[in-house]
Amino acid sequence: MTQMNGKQYRESLKKLKPVIYYMGEKIEDVTAHPAFKPHVNAAALTYEMALAPEFEELCSAKSHLTGEKINRFTHIHQNHDDLIKKVKMLRAIGQQTGSCFQRCVGLDGMNAAYSITYDIDKKTGTNYHERLKNWLKMIQSKDLMPSGAMTDPKGDRSLSPSQQKDPDLYVHVVERKKDGIIVSGAKAHITGAVNSHGHLFMPTSAMKAEDKDYAVCFYAPIDAPGMVHIFGRQSNDTRKCECSMDQGNAEYGCVGGEALIVLDNVFIPNEHVFMCGEWEFAGELVERFATFHRQNYGGCKGGLADVLVGAVYALAQAQGTSKASHVKDKIAEMIHLAETIYCCSIACSCQGFAQPAGSFQADPLLANITKLNVTRNVYEIARLAHDITGGLLATMPSEFDFRDPAVGKWVEKYMKGVSDVPAETRIRLIRLIDAMTCGTALAESMHGAGSPQAQKIMIERRGNLERKKKLAEKLARVGDQPFYVC
Ligand code: SF4
Ligand code: FE
Repeated sequence: MTQMNGKQYRESLKKLKPVIYYMGEKIEDVTAHPAFKPHVNAAALTYEMALAPEFEELCSAKSHLTGEKINRFTHIHQNHDDLIKKVKMLRAIGQQTGSCFQRCVGLDGMNAAYSITYDIDKKTGTNYHERLKNWLKMIQSKDLMPSGAMTDPKGDRSLSPSQQKDPDLYVHVVERKKDGIIVSGAKAHITGAVNSHGHLFMPTSAMKAEDKDYAVCFYAPIDAPGMVHIFGRQSNDTRKCECSMDQGNAEYGCVGGEALIVLDNVFIPNEHVFMCGEWEFAGELVERFATFHRQNYGGCKGGLADVLVGAVYALAQAQGTSKASHVKDKIAEMIHLAETIYCCSIACSCQGFAQPAGSFQADPLLANITKLNVTRNVYEIARLAHDITGGLLATMPSEFDFRDPAVGKWVEKYMKGVSDVPAETRIRLIRLIDAMTCGTALAESMHGAGSPQAQKIMIERRGNLERKKKLAEKLARVGDQPFYVC
């Protein structure tokens, strides 16, 4: 049983041979290429912090399968405390990275698969749960990072998986063999995909009987034959290759690093198949995974907001505006919005409950409320940050001009705010705000863990409108309902 540190995690990635493409180039080593280094660094911190004395309590856990100490990112939640600690861990890591650290998606996938495999076995007599536990023991003992691969490309949204003209628009079983299955298709927007050790694939939506070949959940190592990764572009991504301070957050980047994963007739051995054809459970698996991932967002985005508030506060001091009442008010508003999403994450954890498998699930309604608030509050936090920062956010000269022998002195002179703060401090803070709020980072808050409409659908379904109607009718004396009399 070994917990890896950051260095060992990087070394473990070097031993793998995944097929990865970025900007038309085949990438041989994700740990060395500037486009991926920030994402590798952020994920490495999930390893390092689990071993650091000040974070060990939050970032590690005791395996319920082996009793051994493990990284919390491989843990199955056993009680409310585990759910709450997950949120606190995400905030603590977000405060250090200022960016997505990716490892939560696989954690949420394994927790969802853990309870659903138990339920499938109870109803159908399969042995998926035992397989999942054995796989989990391997993940825990090697301290691996599986990504969570859920979203299919989906093609024509008005058609179900089996109605698509091209069957590969949803991941599906091509062939069933004695010792395993062959799968094809693709998963889109997969966070941390290129620097994970493997992927946990899950169906993307509820299925009907005719979609049963698409109701499939399995694990595959990142270098499984037939698997191809195509890494997505991000706002300002060429700045990563310039290695300049214009990146804003050179160490950890601004988002998780997402990729399209293509499965071209990939063989999956039986021991890594956790659902295959049980279409009635596909929707519930999606809902449990979505609940776990939406639970997270007040944690990680709360941590990121702490960094952003700090950047704006320091910048206001560097610009001489920190004492202005409207600036103080806006900073207070940013804190309010950040703590609101954090409250939501804590609340849905406290209202969690045990599944028949014995593992704990966050409250689905409150988790969806959390994420929907994130789609709004994070944008508002960014708007306030832009307001306080000023127009330089969009017009500031590059580091190349700042360092240039001819014009550097002018950049230095005119980028200065208060006289005792160097211009470079102001430039660095503005670039950090730029990285955290302009472009891809914001879109992630909107669509990561599902778009707002996905949350609205679950909120509407879980909102218990009939009960609310009865409450109103009773007071309005509509019909004949018993009254509490005091
Ligand atoms: Fe984790 Fe947040 Fe990134 Fe999702 S967006 S993987 S919850 S850090
Ligand atoms: Fe995300």
